Amino acid sequence: MAKKIVVLGAGESGTGAAILAQKENFDVFVSDMSAIKDKYKSELQKRGIEFEELRHSEERILQADEVIKSPGIPNDAPLILKLKEKGTNIISEIEFAGRYSDSKMVCITGSNGKTTTTSLIYHIFKMAGLNVGLAGNIGNSLAWQVAEDPHDYYIIELSSFQLDNMYDFKADIAVLMNITPDHLDRYGFEMQNYVDAKFRIIQNQTENDAFVYWNDDPIIQRELKRYGLKARLFPFAEAKAAGLGAYVEDGKVEFTGPVQFNMEQEELALTGKHNLYNSMAAGISANIAGIRKETIREALKTFKGVEHRLERVARVAGVDYINDSKATNVNSCWYALQSMPVKCVLILGGKDKGNDYTEIADLVREKCCGLVYMGLHNEKLHEFFDSFGLPVADVQSMKDAVNAAKAMATEGQIVLLSPCCASFDLFKSYEDRGDQFKACVRAL
Ligand code: ADP
Repeated sequence: MAKKIVVLGAGESGTGAAILAQKENFDVFVSDMSAIKDKYKSELQKRGIEFEELRHSEERILQADEVIKSPGIPNDAPLILKLKEKGTNIISEIEFAGRYSDSKMVCITGSNGKTTTTSLIYHIFKMAGLNVGLAGNIGNSLAWQVAEDPHDYYIIELSSFQLDNMYDFKADIAVLMNITPDHLDRYGFEMQNYVDAKFRIIQNQTENDAFVYWNDDPIIQRELKRYGLKARLFPFAEAKAAGLGAYVEDGKVEFTGPVQFNMEQEELALTGKHNLYNSMAAGISANIAGIRKETIREALKTFKGVEHRLERVARVAGVDYINDSKATNVNSCWYALQSMPVKCVLILGGKDKGNDYTEIADLVREKCCGLVYMGLHNEKLHEFFDSFGLPVADVQSMKDAVNAAKAMATEGQIVLLSPCCASFDLFKSYEDRGDQFKACVRAL
């Protein structure tokens, strides 16, 4: 009898996993607590894959031989706890897809910079003419591509939630950008649990694989000592040091190997210190994959950037409006503030994930001329920032936020949306928050 696979959650990754499971002749059942989008429903129907929505038929689900869980479902959801108690194997869609593919996997994780670096690597591989797919948190489902549109290479953005349920999967090239507190609400407010999840990116790597990471990250440095790493190491940092895969010297980004080459830092399409790191990580990964240095240089020069990441929206009455809606934690806001050339009005707030604002306190004092708190619960922001003596406003909608910021900013300054928080209290998603910001700015 065919092995029973239950897929929990029928979004892009769950639908993809179900399609691959069917192709591999499993007995597949898909269950989603919410309504399934029409687009995915019709893909399942078309293939005769059985599914349910708006409920979980527990009895049936508990009979599964293996469960593929959407990363959106917390590990301590009651149904997941019951499955664990039964000893049922729970894996992620990426883990499942990895079993049926021999393609080269380039995997990117970190607290910040994942999407930018993943998109940049994909851009370089595309420019090199390779047959490459984009997967994980961005692009299409890995399992779906493995089932119906296989590629030689996959560039995969991995969140800690995906890594949580990965065991045998191996990255040929693993990239770890940084580790700073994020999502602690889903890790029992234990930082180490989150750190351990991120470090799953290097599990199963052999001497034929590569590990690319930011050398100046204190947590990465500390953790490295705990692992007997077999992979070839390619750390990167701004200042030159022995053993680095990339660094900056005399205004040039130096890539040391496998092929040695350099390029002017000024020529990098993406600006700001954080993007220097993202560009280095991407350049190293492409270099390891054997892409020609001319192509890497050209690609790093021509990359267009990603929406909602320090995206310049418009200049209105001499004030620049910048959309960094994707800054959903304190550290990414730190980088955004750090890259501000002039004083800015900062719009921040939303669903707090256990934030500690100490990290940005000095930069707020130095760079901000006003603060707009935008969320249903702004008490914590009042408590932390009001004593700084800056003008503050309390708002519950994007329109009010933009109007309040406009009133605070003077010519030559910047209005920066870099919220430090998730968006779910007032918006559908960070994209929705960014889109609303852009629409309100354009309507000014
Ligand atoms: P992620 O996918 O990890 O959330 P993104 O590439 O979407 O990361 O960038 C999110 C935000 O984080 C950006 O708007 C920027 O402010 C900040 N950021 C980007 N790269 C880095 C980095 N390497 N280190 C720290 N912050 C970064």
